[in-house]
Amino acid sequence: MKILVINCGSSSIKADVREHATGAFVARMDIERIGQPNATLRFDGEDSTTDLGQVDHEQALKKTIDLLLKRLDDPGAIAGVGHRVVHGGARFTHPVRITSEVEEAIDELASLAPLHNPANLAGIRAARKLLPDVDHVAVFDTAFHATLPRRARTYALPYEMANDPGLRRFGFHGISHAYVAQRAAEFLDADVRDLRLITCHLGNGASLCAVEFGRSIETSMGLTPLEGLVMGTRTGDIDPGLLIHLMREHGYTADKLDELLNRESGLAGLSGVGNDLRDIEARAADGDDHCRLAIQVFAHRVRKYIGAYAAIMGGVDAIVFAGGIGENSALMRHRIAQRLDFLGARLDEDRNRELQLASLQPVQMFSTPHSRTRLLVARTDESRAIAEAVSKLILKSDELTLDQRPIPVAVSARHIHLTQEAVETLFGPGYQLTPRNDLSQPGQFAAEETVKVVGPKNEFPAVRILGPTRSLNQLEISRTDEFTLGIDAPVRASGDVANSPGILLVGPAGQLKLEQGVICAWRHIHMTPDDAEHFGVKDRDVVEVAVASGDRDLVFGDVLVRVSEKYRLEMHIDTDEGNAANLGRGATGTLISTEGRAQLRRRNTRYDAVNPAAE
Ligand code: ADP
Repeated sequence: MKILVINCGSSSIKADVREHATGAFVARMDIERIGQPNATLRFDGEDSTTDLGQVDHEQALKKTIDLLLKRLDDPGAIAGVGHRVVHGGARFTHPVRITSEVEEAIDELASLAPLHNPANLAGIRAARKLLPDVDHVAVFDTAFHATLPRRARTYALPYEMANDPGLRRFGFHGISHAYVAQRAAEFLDADVRDLRLITCHLGNGASLCAVEFGRSIETSMGLTPLEGLVMGTRTGDIDPGLLIHLMREHGYTADKLDELLNRESGLAGLSGVGNDLRDIEARAADGDDHCRLAIQVFAHRVRKYIGAYAAIMGGVDAIVFAGGIGENSALMRHRIAQRLDFLGARLDEDRNRELQLASLQPVQMFSTPHSRTRLLVARTDESRAIAEAVSKLILKSDELTLDQRPIPVAVSARHIHLTQEAVETLFGPGYQLTPRNDLSQPGQFAAEETVKVVGPKNEFPAVRILGPTRSLNQLEISRTDEFTLGIDAPVRASGDVANSPGILLVGPAGQLKLEQGVICAWRHIHMTPDDAEHFGVKDRDVVEVAVASGDRDLVFGDVLVRVSEKYRLEMHIDTDEGNAANLGRGATGTLISTEGRAQLRRRNTRYDAVNPAAE
């Protein structure tokens, strides 16, 4: 089965065919100069182009799809179509199946992306007409940044304006940032949810993203793709006062400013030789001062942002370079990554110079072997990322064919596990926890004792302690609790507390400042080896689970399977998750059994490599 990926710009279309199972490239077609009298079409790898004359998007796409289908062995094999859509506004935070209603919503977002969304939509409408029998999916450039915290997405305008949903920072290149972050994590043999990454997408358009534990928490583009880094023809950050000055003193209009900032500036404006860094580097080597300045300003801006993002995340595990410049320009990588030793990133100059990305090695490292922060280059592949999103949404792979035995669901309210040492610090020397009631997992109990948990913003006066004592302190809270306390905790399997935030605990006999240990528990199912055999899963599989609650049925992805002789079959979710499915409403105790029943729907092998540190 194959996925067709369409990237429809204002005057060009890129259409890729990908193998659904592997993401492997099958064919590509490029059309340029749509709307002009001399549009051309070219197959990947062929030098010659076909003249199309004057065509609009629909005509161009029809030609593309007809020719592509002719070239494929089995034209019926197109199982789905993915469309890149630049702006998903606040509404589209994930890929969606396209309906007429979704088309209308994309249309409404055109005011936010006047250059892109109308062209994207023209492509969607034409392709749905031409291939009416398959699913079409929209994948948004803004979606990955839906997790930007309020402090990062808000412009400091007067309050009413700052809260206008159309006047905020959205961020772009999300498909690429998410893709290279995932590939970098695989290269490092880690789960992206354990890493703090800075991804640098440096192409004609350029942006940086701080990817903390798998979520975008800051990015350099804003309301429009003009904010942030120096780009091929865009200024990136500039003092807004300069615009006022140009308008007042030099009679600039909005259109003229648009032209200046979006098309006449950046590398092209500074260098005077166009936006291709290869030309600029060649001239700079010959001593051209304009070109040298262009390179210096570009690199300086990226370095400035790297420093800022490292500060925001409190450290960084890897800095990942991608895009035409990030992947190919050793000179630019060198200028950006030199003297980052203070961040723990040590550049290996030889590796950087000799690095060549090959299709078999699409991620490579150019830091020294002992560099604490890794420097990586990753080949971005947005069309593959879109194809993967389409496959995930429309094709049910790895379906479990087993008997659908229901699994009991229990909701876990916030609770804490403590070491004996911590119990004694908080309650006094020699203190032993008093069991209050047994929990469903054998040997586990809720204790009579509670502790006060004090966060930067608020505190919880009585968080239940679960016994028996363990070898690690671990506070498990929901996302809502994180907001209340004022901290960001990663989603983790129990026992995996490395690099998690700490918190202050207060007991009757003393206080304890935990350096780490606050997590949002990764939803999971406990089962015995017999259960696992019955369901056809293994320990640490990640599965999808449908939860039936009567009136708010829900399918949970990313559910971790934990198998042990010690366990009893039960799915554990937190109060946010329980409420979303209308289970255990008002649950205040720990592990409240609910009326809900879960059914395994499929195994998702994508996250198979769960952090081995999990207990
Ligand atoms: P887009 O943002 O349009 O997708 P790309 O990611 O393809 O752009 O990046 C294009 C840019 O990458 C080119 O304009 C050029 O400046 C730069 N580039 C590509 N190859 C090299 C190279 N070998 N050395 C320096 N710069 C390069």
